[in-house]
Amino acid sequence: MAGLDLEVSTGTATTSVTAVLRGGASTAPDSERPVVLLRGDMDALPVTERTGEEFSSRHEGVMHACGHDLHTAGLVGAARLLAARAPELTGDVVFMFQPGEEGHDGAGHMIEEGVLEAAGRPVEAAYGLHVTSSKQPKGLFSARPGPLMAASAGLSVRVIGAGGHGSSPHRSLDPMPAACEMVLALQTMVTRRFDVFEPVVITVGTFHAGTRRNVIPDEATFEATVRAFTPDALAQVQELAVRLCEDIAAAHGLRAEATFTGEYPLTANDAAEHDFLAATVREIFGEDRYELMENPITGSEDFSRVLERVPGAFVFLGATVADDPETAPTNHSPLAQFDDSVLADGAALLAELAVRRLGSASPAQQQPESAVAATP
Ligand SMILES: [Zn+2]
Ligand SMILES: [Zn+2]
Repeated sequence: MAGLDLEVSTGTATTSVTAVLRGGASTAPDSERPVVLLRGDMDALPVTERTGEEFSSRHEGVMHACGHDLHTAGLVGAARLLAARAPELTGDVVFMFQPGEEGHDGAGHMIEEGVLEAAGRPVEAAYGLHVTSSKQPKGLFSARPGPLMAASAGLSVRVIGAGGHGSSPHRSLDPMPAACEMVLALQTMVTRRFDVFEPVVITVGTFHAGTRRNVIPDEATFEATVRAFTPDALAQVQELAVRLCEDIAAAHGLRAEATFTGEYPLTANDAAEHDFLAATVREIFGEDRYELMENPITGSEDFSRVLERVPGAFVFLGATVADDPETAPTNHSPLAQFDDSVLADGAALLAELAVRRLGSASPAQQQPESAVAATP
């Protein structure tokens, strides 16, 4: 972004970067000039890349497996497009370069540090996009009004017994079978305690116990990720899952410490902002470039923190390199590949959303003659 007329600041809690572009077209007092936020996340994942690309990550155990490098580059592209048009903008644009999306709540930290007031007054609308390496055809934008991505939480369970010799389990308190029972009972709980129309996912992703086959360990621990689409469902999982683990432990004469930690809230698109985004995609790229998603997805996003506070919309952009997106490795896979030829359209969309949104009091009153973004 060097050479662009932006007010750039960096965070202290994280490695965040915030840039503000001042539009020059309005003579209105500052308090009446709208502010739009565009967001790109920047972080990688603890995955060792196996794509074989010549530009593969050179760092063992660090890979842009979720395509956030495209988001960063795309947001720089949007900043360049908008900086070139600053004299026509009737308000200001905040560019939110965010670290720590993958479970570190980077958005939450940036909000605490004031990103939503970075222009000196509150942001009125916020937009972001996410590339996908599979499922979605290349170049297709997709989203939906309302719930788009799940709320997430973590469940950590420590089952405490008393270790001993593997040959005489009756003289120990073996935590292992009880912990296994909990893993299975959690799945039964999802089907027996939740309405099938109230989706809940619980996946146990770690399970650790023991050191040798003939030693009964003192403890077994496991961790699960939880996804749900309403605060009520999440609260119910918390109550039921914690009790289930504690009571199964008690039934075997053991003790369990179950900790439930809320992570990201539901990512929900404002209905009017979604419709505005969809109409913008169709108008500048063509009808066939936008697809309304039938269902939300069970992934989570900390852009939800922004959308909780500011009306806005988040959209997926297909960036698969495969002929058949259905069989392509998914985001987070060590084989995930993203086609950066979609970058220009991603950047153009973000820029155009800002131009149009700044140019009207609300999406409903949008000016039809507002300018179309130049392709970068
Ligand atoms: Zn991810
Ligand atoms: Zn991601």
